[in-house]
Amino acid sequence: MSATPDDTKDNAEEHAFRLRAREWLRTHLPPRRLQDEPMMDWADKALIARDRESQRALWEGGLAGITLPREYGGLGLDRRYADIYYEEAQPYRLPWHFGNAFNIVLPTLLAHGSEELKRRYVPAILRGEHLWCQLLSEPSGGSDLAGLTTRAELRGDHWLLNGSKVWTTGGLDCDMGICLARTDPTVPKHAGLTMFLVDMTSPGLAINPIKLISGTVDFCQEFFDDVAVPADHVLGEVGGGWAVASTQLGAEKASMARGWYEGLAAAVESDEIELKDEYGRMARSLGVHEDPRARQLIGEAFVLDAVHTLTTRRVSAGIRNGALPPTAGTLSSLLVALCDVRRSALLSGISGPAGVAAKPGEEGLQWGMTRVTRHRIGGGTTEMQRNGVAERHLGLPRDEADIADRTVPFNRRKVNPDRAQ
Ligand SMILES: Cc1cc2nc3c(=O)[nH]c(=O)nc-3n(C[C@H](O)[C@H](O)[C@H](O)COP(=O)(O)OP(=O)(O)OC[C@H]3O[C@@H](n4cnc5c(N)ncnc54)[C@H](O)[C@@H]3O)c2cc1C
Repeated sequence: MSATPDDTKDNAEEHAFRLRAREWLRTHLPPRRLQDEPMMDWADKALIARDRESQRALWEGGLAGITLPREYGGLGLDRRYADIYYEEAQPYRLPWHFGNAFNIVLPTLLAHGSEELKRRYVPAILRGEHLWCQLLSEPSGGSDLAGLTTRAELRGDHWLLNGSKVWTTGGLDCDMGICLARTDPTVPKHAGLTMFLVDMTSPGLAINPIKLISGTVDFCQEFFDDVAVPADHVLGEVGGGWAVASTQLGAEKASMARGWYEGLAAAVESDEIELKDEYGRMARSLGVHEDPRARQLIGEAFVLDAVHTLTTRRVSAGIRNGALPPTAGTLSSLLVALCDVRRSALLSGISGPAGVAAKPGEEGLQWGMTRVTRHRIGGGTTEMQRNGVAERHLGLPRDEADIADRTVPFNRRKVNPDRAQ
């Protein structure tokens, strides 16, 4: 069930925009086929290339960056026009591989970038030229982001980066990366970080794909060996990287609250609750649709979807109208993770052994098995999200060890093997 676009509230200009968008989308973008095509698959080079073309076409068709300032290539229109566009775009495949660029990098760049960086990199995203990745997690651990050890040293007009990043979604195919590194180890860990914009084709940057047991290759590990980054490619202040990372992580969580690529937001925010019938279809295809136990699990799945949809919509609206801070996206991403864990159990329960032995193309079954770990870990583990909800939203005290860790110079932390003697 998908919502019919509501054009009754349009004024004349909005209506003209809606009709233009509707016609353009119908003639330029492929239909959305979530059943047999993944939203994102970094191993599918043809799909990535198609998303680049689609984003380019959106730019040429005057439908890219609807609310973004004109000086950076946007249309400078208000939010209502973006809502109209996303309502109309629902039936089509939007360039989902640009999710990182739009959801995370653009808001961070606009908030912290120099005029020159904004004029250079915002239009490049809108034109479909730059896919972006996030270079945050390291082999030593991703949860303690402020404890990272990749270091950057200033050498005249450029910085030299050394270290390693890991679990970078799409690292191999992205053109640019937003990378947090340590520029001063003599101050407490949050204070010595700086955010860099890194050209992923830079000499000295080795990008190794990581093949998962599921066969997918979404992730990469990068090794920085004297990678030179121009001095003007610092985002925000030198030593102010934590503030930039906070914007970045907040943007990621807010986008999870909205729906990853905004095209999905229309579905999430429509007046109807979209109850997915994938459980019923799967039960029918396995011949268990009359089984009382399977029916009970299907019933729970429907309720779970409704709770998920309504709560996500409520958080999203709260962030938009200012009733909730941007960090409230944590509530939604935690909910997404917890719902996915439960959905996975429900799908396993409905499908039985068939779920374990799903063949390629049996997306419903695979979905349950593969997606569960993603949202439990990606963008911050559920444990860290619970910490965030407890500390930032419920006002509970921080862990004592964490408080101590925040005040000692980084190179004097007990856990740091490189600490000064
Ligand atoms: C789908 C997906 C996409 C990702 N994409 C990217 C990306 O594009 N870029 C990027 O940089 N990273 C990415 N990651 C990595 C992700 O950010 C990290 O995996 C995550 O932050 C956890 O870090 P870690 O795996 O090193 O686990 P660790 O930090 O080593 O944690 C191990 C375990 O300890 C728990 N733990 C750690 N500290 C605490 C604490 N203080 N309180 C309670 N429990 C704690 C954790 O919850 C976890 O269960 C992605 C991961 C996934 C699954």
